Amino acid sequence: CGIVGYIGPRQAVSVLMQGLKQLEYRGYDSSGISVLNASSIKTFKKIGKLVNLESIVPEKNRAKVGIGHTRWATHGKVTDENAHPHVSNCGKISLVHNGIIDNYVSLKDELIKKGYTFDSDTDSEVLVHLIHYYLNGDPVSAVQKALERLDGTYGVGVLFADYPDLLIGARNGSPLIVGVGEGEMFLGSDASAFIGLSKQAIYLDDGEMVVLTSKNYKTINRHNKIVDKKVEQVEIDT
Ligand code: GLU
Repeated sequence: CGIVGYIGPRQAVSVLMQGLKQLEYRGYDSSGISVLNASSIKTFKKIGKLVNLESIVPEKNRAKVGIGHTRWATHGKVTDENAHPHVSNCGKISLVHNGIIDNYVSLKDELIKKGYTFDSDTDSEVLVHLIHYYLNGDPVSAVQKALERLDGTYGVGVLFADYPDLLIGARNGSPLIVGVGEGEMFLGSDASAFIGLSKQAIYLDDGEMVVLTSKNYKTINRHNKIVDKKVEQVEIDT
């Protein structure tokens, strides 16, 4: 339902919680965040209103990178386990997903045969394990290869514990916007996710991916070709 992402000098936890609050109007049944610090990803997720998530999120946390999600369940009941982010490889990769993966049953069978275990009943979790399966020194190409396997719609944000200055976003049929700051970057399913923090935005189109570091962004297409995107001024009312 709602996605927020951050990479930069601020405390990621507070940027993400503020972003999730701005996305509440879309409706949701659960929420969660993952933050990355010192090559370790910590994930907090809870059913119900954001106050439930607030009660388990640490007030002081030094992470400067993270992703957050408000879920509107389509596959799998409303439970803490089914809330996003979903992780793979003992928490080394974390993912938030909006949309529906139509072929998740066959992908899940395939991954279980390869030895992956599932913590949730969602369609989304197949994607994070697929990314791990394809990870071979290059996170961008792993995400690309995994996305190529999907039928359905997605807006995604992905973190890798071993790549602390990296945040990847991609979209196909589900909106995703990049907030371009100075020395910091944001992701949002809409611009309200980073309202008041960045006024410059890039609106991704279907089939596009963005590779973010705190200082740079790179937009690419399915064939790994750089696409030149216009940076636009965000016009939204608060
Ligand atoms: N299909 C996913 C799920 O049920 C994502 C739903 C959403 O877009 O919030 O968890």
